[in-house]
Amino acid sequence: MPEDWQTALAVVAHPDDLEYGASGAIARWTAQGKTVKYVLACRGEAGIDSMPPEEAGPVREREQIAGAAVVGVRTVEFLDHQDGMMTYGLPLRRDIAAAIRRHRPDLVISGNHRETFPGGFLNMADHKVVGLATIDAVRDAANRWVFRDLDLEPWGGVKHVAVAGSPQATHAVDITDTLDTAIASLREHASYLAALSGDMADAEGFLRRIAAMTGQRFGGRPAASFELLAM
Ligand SMILES: [Zn+2]
Repeated sequence: MPEDWQTALAVVAHPDDLEYGASGAIARWTAQGKTVKYVLACRGEAGIDSMPPEEAGPVREREQIAGAAVVGVRTVEFLDHQDGMMTYGLPLRRDIAAAIRRHRPDLVISGNHRETFPGGFLNMADHKVVGLATIDAVRDAANRWVFRDLDLEPWGGVKHVAVAGSPQATHAVDITDTLDTAIASLREHASYLAALSGDMADAEGFLRRIAAMTGQRFGGRPAASFELLAM
């Protein structure tokens, strides 16, 4: 994975999306002195079955900000689209393009927009629409005639989009030194994890297994993988 960049903007649908796989790479990059910022399309308010959205939104926002801080990310923004009901379209593209124009990153990290995750597990609607809208918004952000009403200078400096969790990964990052930090980052989502069952409730087991599985393709070291799209 190229590391000849200085600033990245990570755009995903929900709190916890970056912590389930990408945050080991992000911890490595911030430790190198790079700046990474997070933009979340929603506050994850529909993510806890036992907690109504009015309560869950603020809780998950706090947990996301804490999880980001663990991996050296100090800027976390929320676009306030509706959790579970996101649609691909101009409002979403416009909000993401505005964030790209404000932050002017070299690299954009997105969530998986493809139908499945590695291993064949079905992806979900919010991930697919936010992932696709993020890729399209990189182009939108660079075109001064698109979203003129934003009154923000165009930004065409994004060289790559790195798609996290893609079943078509092309690149990887060695996270040997940051896997523990990534686990600590996911553990900050304590209320969310407490309400989960199954293997995703086990932060450490899940992340170690994914890193080892990914590492099989990348020299046997624990790794986080990305599908790298040249822009
Ligand atoms: Zn998600």
